Amino acid sequence: VTQTVNIRASSIASIIDCPKRGLSLALGLVKQLPSTAPAIIGSACHESTAAFDKAAIEGCPITADEATQVIVDYIKHPKDEVYWGDTTTKEAERRAIGVHTRYCMDIAPDIDYEQVELTLDPMEIDCGDGLVIVLTGTLDRVYKEIRTYELEYYDGHGILDVKSGVRACTQKPGKHKGQLGVYELLAERALGVEMNLPGLIGRLQTSNQYEVDVVAVENTKEALIGNDEETGLLGHIARMLKSGDFYGNSSSWLCSERYCPLYKGCIFR
Ligand code: SF4
Repeated sequence: VTQTVNIRASSIASIIDCPKRGLSLALGLVKQLPSTAPAIIGSACHESTAAFDKAAIEGCPITADEATQVIVDYIKHPKDEVYWGDTTTKEAERRAIGVHTRYCMDIAPDIDYEQVELTLDPMEIDCGDGLVIVLTGTLDRVYKEIRTYELEYYDGHGILDVKSGVRACTQKPGKHKGQLGVYELLAERALGVEMNLPGLIGRLQTSNQYEVDVVAVENTKEALIGNDEETGLLGHIARMLKSGDFYGNSSSWLCSERYCPLYKGCIFR
């Protein structure tokens, strides 16, 4: 018997963070909890900055201000069920517009993009012993050139992923290696060109200071697939899936009633 498991690029960091939570969700053993205010702020910025960049590469640019309409609409009609907590929709809108504007002013002008938001064809990876992992994902951006935040890369192709959050700028970028590695694999196949420039994270901090920056993440495919000496993240995930034995990690950033559907009965927290 073959077991086929879909793994979204964006779920890899949380699978590694707490395999019990991440793999139970990937296998459909438990249901995702309602979305939260920070997640909605992040999704709204994703859509608005993509609208801004897309208009620019399509040759009919819109202003940062015009693109904020996307945020207003998104927060009014979120795609998922949302637990807003103490955050009002006005506050969510203000935070999203704050970092969106900084992205459009401080980051976007110094990067040349060739693709904005691209749904990629899934890739099947035969992991042996009857396990097939299907990698899926929607790519944020492919860039050709960047000259900002002490980064200078020219004449190539690389992935940029936008991340937002209250502490986005202080988190370690290495956490996103698995996700960027998947994007590189899928994008190389879809576009037929090598991703020869480093992966980038465009970080949008939704705290009151609205800090933004861009950092590079190198060797992402190596972290995903491994090398001659070490098993990569995918190999570790495959091993756990084959054994069906997942440990829990109570120091996970998602270990709370709000984010983990297994919280009530979990022996590890
Ligand atoms: S409660 Fe914590 S340790 Fe248990 S599965 Fe959820 S995140 Fe992991």
